[in-house]
This record gives sequence, C-alpha cells and structure tokens, in this order.
Amino acid sequence: MAVERVVIIGSGPASWSAAIYAARAELQPLVFEGAITEENRISGTLPLGQLNLTTEVENYAGFPAGNLESYLDSAIPTVARQNMAPHSKHGISGPELMELMRQQAKNFGTRIITDDIAKVDFKRHPFHLTSLNGQVTEALTVIVATGARANYLGLPSEEAFKNRGVSACAVCDGALPRYRNKPLVVVGGGDSAVEEASYLAKFASRVHLVHRRDKLRASKIMAQRAEDNPKIDIVWNHALSEVRGSDAQGMTGVLLENTVDGGTKSLEAAGLFLAIGHTPNTAFLDGQLQLTKKQYVVLTVPFRTDTSVPGVFAAGDVADDYYRQAITSAGSGCMAALDAERWLAAREH
Ligand code: NAP
Repeated sequence: MAVERVVIIGSGPASWSAAIYAARAELQPLVFEGAITEENRISGTLPLGQLNLTTEVENYAGFPAGNLESYLDSAIPTVARQNMAPHSKHGISGPELMELMRQQAKNFGTRIITDDIAKVDFKRHPFHLTSLNGQVTEALTVIVATGARANYLGLPSEEAFKNRGVSACAVCDGALPRYRNKPLVVVGGGDSAVEEASYLAKFASRVHLVHRRDKLRASKIMAQRAEDNPKIDIVWNHALSEVRGSDAQGMTGVLLENTVDGGTKSLEAAGLFLAIGHTPNTAFLDGQLQLTKKQYVVLTVPFRTDTSVPGVFAAGDVADDYYRQAITSAGSGCMAALDAERWLAAREH
C-alpha cells in the first residue's frame, strides 16, 4: 500500500484550502470528503459541510454582489452546476462557494474519496485511517477538518417529529410543501437563527423566532433584519419545552415556557427549525487527540495548527468555537497545509 503524504479529512473551506496549498506544494493530497448517507443527511454532515446548507454568503471577501453567472458556469462542472439553485446575485451562495473550492482543489490534482473516515490510529506512524467502507489508508500527515454540526435540544418530542416538522436546516427543508404558507418556529438567537428565520419568512405565513433571552446574540445588521421583517415575530424570554403533533399530521405546534416567570404558552406551527449552535465532528477520533470540554480539537501551539499528536494538524470549525467563519476556516486550512509541508520537510531532511 502506498503511503500518502497528506490526508485531509472533511470537505468545508478549511479542507479545500488545505488541499489547494498541499497540491500546489506537490504533496498529492488525498481528501476524504465524507459519505453520502441518510445518517449524514439527518445530522447535517454530508460532503461540502455547513456552507452547502446555507444561502447567500455576503461576507467572504472577493465575492461582492453582482452577476457571477457565466463565471460559475465556466468554473463548475455542468453536472454539479445543474443541481444548484439559481445564482442569487447577493455575493455568492454557500453551495456555489464550496463547489468552486472543490473544483479548484481538483484542478491542482487533489484526489477525492466520497467516504467518511470512521476510525483513526494515531498511535503508529504512518497513521492508519479506516473509512466507512473498510478501506485502510496510511498517511504521514493528517489534517482534520471535519467541521461541526447543528445541535438539537434533546427533547423526546423533538426526536419523534424529526423529518415530520422538526429540522435543523431551513435551507435544506424550508421550501418543502409542508412548510409553505404555514406558521413556523425557529429557536435560537444567533446569526444562524436570524438567517434561518429570514429565509423561512419567504415561504411561511409567519415565523416565530423563539429566544431564551431578551437580546439577540446575532450581529447588529442581521438582528436588525429580523426585527424589521414584518413576517418575523420575535418571542423573547421563552424556551421550547415540547413539540406537539400526531402520527397522521406530524408536528402541529409547540409548547413554550417563559424563562422569566415560568408561564407557558402554545403556538400552532407546521415546522420547528433549531438554530442553537453546533457540536464539532470529533467522535471518530475516539479520544486520540486532545479535545476541549466542548469536544473541539485543542491546537497545542499558539498561531499554529498542531494538535497533541505530531504530524496531525487541525483546521476550521473542528478546532474553533470562537470565530467559526468561512473565511477564518479557509485561512486555517492554508496554515494546516503549510504546517504539514514543513513537518514533512523537517523529517525528510
Ligand atoms: P451561536 O452564535 O452560538 O448562537 C446560538 C444561539 O442559540 C444563541 O442565541 C443561544 O442563546 C441559543 N441557544 C444555545 N443553546 C440553546 C438551548 N439549549 N436552548 C435555547 N437556545 C439555545 O450559533 P450560530 O448562530 O449557529 O452561529 C455560529 C457562528 O457562525 C457565529 O460565529 C456566527 O456569527 C456565524 N454565522 C454567521 C452567519 C453570517 O454572517 N451570515 C450566519 C450564520 C452563522 P444565548 O444567546 O442565550 O446563548
């Protein structure tokens, strides 16, 4: 079995930026971009990561509002392009950006396997990586860029109505007939919650944005958009305590509890969209890298992408619970590729 010099796990902006740099350094990177499975669909961990589940990206430098249509047609393979939503002209969309990055990595010779890495062995070197289908890959360096996925509240009633009203991805599910012209609920107070509520307001009769405090965490510009949208009703100081519905109809409403006085109230709703933060995708590491209390990979050297295992680097949201932006993630992917290249060079000499 040939030993790989750089294996990159994940397929968000950190992963593709790492691949572009590693490929241009002639390290022939191999990317495991994730498996296309129902389990990954439900947990939001399909290939191309969280950006593939969002709409407009207005804050990624280099993509101002404008008509990028013909560039997108020329840069992205026809098959992938045909499956994408029409270009919105607001900067670039998340799926467009991810397809461009993937293609750019491919153009420089990156090899891509559409599978998950299910198990790692970092105790031996070369490292052993086992994919979901059982393939074992040996690698001199590994870049972990598996990102994070959306959280759920953990209520039994929420679990019971998953896919029958309950979702953590408005962009994936919001346009389905069951949500059209119906009242919907979004839980959360960050940028994601505001973004999801604004997106859903295009289809829904009304969107109740339920937040547990009396102030949104979202950036000012995003928060203002929600407050100004006549279809969005912000329900302050409430937590969701139960999802209601029936086998025949799926979800039909929610029960809310006032976080200040404990009072309850119910709302009719055909859908519930959770936007309450993220959990890093680190379970497959099975304790072999040092993790924080919140399960993010610990970067052991300031301003570097080193982890607790020499030769294993981490980039993007899997190691970042602070910035979590597409552009910071892409930057850290570049850093990880340079760190891997230098680590290999030091050993070869
Ligand atoms: P976030 O900023 O961590 O916000 C999570 C929200 O969920 C908070 O308002 C939090 O309430 C609430 N929450 C957490 N656990 C909860 C629970 N158990 N019950 C009820 N509410 C709960 O997460 P995010 O909105 O996903 O954003 C993550 C990062 O991505 C941020 O850096 C954000 O700026 C970025 N982002 C940017 C954009 C954009 O610029 N277009 C879009 C999406 C995300 P509290 O406020 O009370 O803690």
